[in-house]
Amino acid sequence: ATVAAAPAVSAAAVLPYQDPSLPVADRVSDLLSRMSVDDKVGQMVQAERAKVSAQQITQYRLGSVLSGGGSAPTPNSPAGWADMYDAYQRGALATPLQIPMIYGIDAVHGNNNVYGSTIFPHNIGLGATRDPALVERIGQATADEVAGAGLDWTFAPCVCVARNDRWGRTYESFGEDPALATAMTTVITGLQDGAHPVLATAKHYLGDGGTTGGVDQGDTALTEADLRAIHLPPFRAAVERGVGSVMISFSSWNGTKLHGHRYLVTDVLKGELGFTGFTVSDWAGVDQLDGQPGFTQAEVVTAVNAGLDMLMVPENWQTFLGYLRAAVTAGQIPMSRIDDANRRILTQKFELGLFEKPYADRSLAATVGSAAHRVLAREAVRKSQVLLKNRGDVLPLAKTGGKIFVAGKSADDIGNSSGGWTLSWQGASGNTVPGTTILQGIRSAVGSGATVTYSRDGSGVDSTYRAAVAVVGETPYAEGEGDRPGAFGLDSADQAVLTRLRAAGVPVIVVLVSGRPLDIAGQLDGWDALLASWLPGTEGAGVADVLFGDYAPTGKLPVTWPASAGQEPINAGDGKTGLFPYGYGLTYAGEPADVAAPSVPGTPVASAVTATGATLSWSASTDTGGSGLAGYDVYRDGTLIGSTTTAGYTATGLTAASRYAFTVVARDRAGNRSAPSAALTVTTSAAPSDGAGCRVSWTTNDWSAGFTAAVTVTNTGTAAV
Ligand code: BGC
Repeated sequence: ATVAAAPAVSAAAVLPYQDPSLPVADRVSDLLSRMSVDDKVGQMVQAERAKVSAQQITQYRLGSVLSGGGSAPTPNSPAGWADMYDAYQRGALATPLQIPMIYGIDAVHGNNNVYGSTIFPHNIGLGATRDPALVERIGQATADEVAGAGLDWTFAPCVCVARNDRWGRTYESFGEDPALATAMTTVITGLQDGAHPVLATAKHYLGDGGTTGGVDQGDTALTEADLRAIHLPPFRAAVERGVGSVMISFSSWNGTKLHGHRYLVTDVLKGELGFTGFTVSDWAGVDQLDGQPGFTQAEVVTAVNAGLDMLMVPENWQTFLGYLRAAVTAGQIPMSRIDDANRRILTQKFELGLFEKPYADRSLAATVGSAAHRVLAREAVRKSQVLLKNRGDVLPLAKTGGKIFVAGKSADDIGNSSGGWTLSWQGASGNTVPGTTILQGIRSAVGSGATVTYSRDGSGVDSTYRAAVAVVGETPYAEGEGDRPGAFGLDSADQAVLTRLRAAGVPVIVVLVSGRPLDIAGQLDGWDALLASWLPGTEGAGVADVLFGDYAPTGKLPVTWPASAGQEPINAGDGKTGLFPYGYGLTYAGEPADVAAPSVPGTPVASAVTATGATLSWSASTDTGGSGLAGYDVYRDGTLIGSTTTAGYTATGLTAASRYAFTVVARDRAGNRSAPSAALTVTTSAAPSDGAGCRVSWTTNDWSAGFTAAVTVTNTGTAAV
């Protein structure tokens, strides 16, 4: 397609804001000084693409367009997206100051809006990998694919800490542990700092995963200390990684909607955390402030004065814009607030290079769904599988000999494997996007070595098969539609499949495709193996890699698995005993899980500490960042057990044959980077040097200036590990 070049502002000299050689701050100031009130309020509005034309972008000087979950169907090819993008951009560049618009989409597991994209596992599966470096690479690949469709902004990652599996967005979370969600903020670096950067969004600020009853958009009733301890750390890390935007949560904190929460948005996020990007509202979130349908001027005033910079007003944006304009004219919103919002938005646009390269880069289209990205996704799928049961070492399956039976509604269904936010908001069953189903993965793993028979409902199985693999679980959903206030077990069709397979008297291997743990305690006895696959996406071969032992499972539970739905909420450290603890995950015989598994703070680093004490040591850190090193805090299973100024600590009072997670955090004198979850990530070394299976090494992910430590957990008891 041909693309119109940006019209020249004037034949005369380039204005300071147009000069890429000047510092961004100077360019922003210059541009701001030239903007009218209409320019400024327009920048703050994001309209939904089906509700806005390119001509209106020009006329109302709108700063942003989105294709969100609730949007109408969108183009089905990268080129179609790029054309659409460019049309809006031409509208934006036809304004007097030629300020480019920015286009937001929910690329939450790959560039999932665009047909043909690589669909990566949803975040819950990535949490199971315990591999922040992998997640960073996924961020980069996603950015490539977003840029490949001409787009520049994704509403991702969701860094929510999901504390109740009833919540329909549990799968958008990396897990229940603040440290885990924090470690996975590497995705932001991947999205923003790769070869083709796109703007990332940390969402939803704050406490979206902590609502009472796991109700989407509900109320998070917590003390401030708990809110900060559980839900703030990933945002702190996101800010330290330079995240460009933060989306405000629909939810409330102790009854006050976040969209109007000045203390949390302005004082904490922008003040205390030092966030310099811009905040964006959630979908018409401002309209929820007074509990009545329809925007009011009062709501607009409350939200903007609370610290909202860009307002996602998919519909009725003209009404909204009118109120915003009127509120500014009436002095209800100070011009300084409007300028601050504009400064933040424009800074991101300049830093993204939009002023220099406003149009889609069509040379990147080949990255969409590329072979390299699919290989990466397959790696992520492999690493996200969590083996929860393996009676008699039924897994891994041999690739040769005999017959394997495959059944279940998700065996041959990429839509189910991908879940919500796949082509459409709610996602859909069926092979809606190209890729490899789990069944196809199984078939290509065995090749001609064994016979694979498939029937969706399990009919036809008999005792001549050597194993039956049942791929069952949840069908796609998103947001509140996925809330499960009641039971959340397998549906009756799944149960019928499993009953048939069991009746055949063959070993039954259950592959659970779901966005969260399901209530399965009552049926587990009848299954020989259980593999939690989460929502793996388009590369089903990664599941087969684990089933056939091409990859010994290393995934660890990112959430506590409840023994019954009634246990919800259940989280590590709350005294409840679930079906499987947080961090649980088996591997195949002969390969100790703690050797193969990458690990992060908050996960067991020793598969079986059979002693009552453990010595922790690590190499000393130096703070080259400024204030100097203050000391170290030592956590066991997320609870502070002591502090030390030297690089060593002895943990006592351990229980034999239990699993523990030790976390060591270096703290500087300024204290502002002391969150345990933000400071360090952990990876296991290839082999434990002491034979005890306890050796891990720790590297910083944020204090790149000088906090690198190696930790060895050594058994000091008498029993062998
Ligand atoms: C969701 C956000 C999403 C937005 C745009 C909202 O309903 O809560 O996570 O980014 O829609 O699609």
